[in-house]
This record gives sequence, C-alpha cells and structure tokens, in this order.
Amino acid sequence: MAKIVEPNPAFTREIIAGGPNKAGGGDTLMLCYQCGTCTASCPSGRLTAFRTRQLVRRGQLGLKDEVLPTEELWLCTTCYQCVERCPRNVEITDLIFIMRNIAAKEGFMSDQHKKIGENMMAIGSTVPFPDTMKKVRADMGLPAEPPTTVSDQKAMADFRKVMEACGFDSLMKGGKK
Ligand code: SF4
Ligand code: SF4
Repeated sequence: MAKIVEPNPAFTREIIAGGPNKAGGGDTLMLCYQCGTCTASCPSGRLTAFRTRQLVRRGQLGLKDEVLPTEELWLCTTCYQCVERCPRNVEITDLIFIMRNIAAKEGFMSDQHKKIGENMMAIGSTVPFPDTMKKVRADMGLPAEPPTTVSDQKAMADFRKVMEACGFDSLMKGGKK
C-alpha cells in the first residue's frame, strides 16, 4: 500500500527563512525546477542512497518527516559541486546546512556528527589525539602534544565557554527527538 506523507508548509517556510540561525541561501529553495544536475554532480550520491535533487524537493514540499530523521541528510560532504553546476543558482549546500541545523535543534543530529562534536568539546579538535600519536611525535623529536587546544588548557577552557554560550554542547546531548 502506498505511504501517504503529510506535507508541512511550516517546514518549507522555516528553510526559506534560514532555519534557527537565519542563515543565508534559504530563499533560493523555490528556484529549483528539479533538473537533477545536482544529483548527477554529487560524489556522495555515487556511493550512497543520497539524492540531492530529492532532498531539495522534500524541502520544497515541506516533507519534514522525510528529511529530519534520515541518514541521507548527513551524507553531503559540502564539496559545492552541485552549487557550481545548478542552472538555477540554488544555494544547495546552504539549504542542506539549514536543514541540518533544524535537524540538530530537534534532536536528529547523526551519531557520527555528534561524535565529532564530542571530540571538539573534549580536546578542541575534530580528530582524537591518542597516545600513539603522541609517541610518534616524541619519536620525531617534536613536543608530544601539538601547540593547539590539545596542549593549551586556557585556550581549551575558552573554547568550551564559547561552545556552551552558543548552545553547541547541548546539541551534542540531543534535543526533543
Ligand atoms: S541542479 Fe539546481 S535546479 Fe537542478 S535539481 Fe538541483 S537544485 Fe534543482
Ligand atoms: S555539496 Fe553535498 S550535495 Fe552538493 S555535490 Fe557536494 S556532497 Fe553532493
């Protein structure tokens, strides 16, 4: 039996308005005429079920429940190839950022992105810095820890304050999913 999906016009309006951060690019959503050039350009879509054109269409139609909980929303690598080629100058990558921001605010951030955020909150870097790396650096005659937030505790404390002030830390803990 065909699945009936309820459109949510408020979701479309939220994207056009730029999502929770009032980001730019949302006002290009309705310029899309579904040519599919973005899907054909997308390196991520070649390897996954992610279809850029389909995501934009779901945004136009307000299919919130077909966007926010999906893994596909997080498969864009933000390479901007689709934006370079779109004949309608749709700010596709910005639209994806906006939809991700809405998703994160509503508790649908992907586990992988959460993990990266947790690394940032822990050491100020998206990539973990394990003891094996410290040993490699020491063996090469370098300080075991690089002169970044990994070794600068004051910078790390300042970074955490900024993340807490802008609510990033609470996004890591999930929302109202
Ligand atoms: S390339 Fe642009 S106009 Fe064509 S489907 Fe993608 S967003 Fe829409
Ligand atoms: S920016 Fe994202 S959606 Fe656009 S081509 Fe690159 S990976 Fe695909």
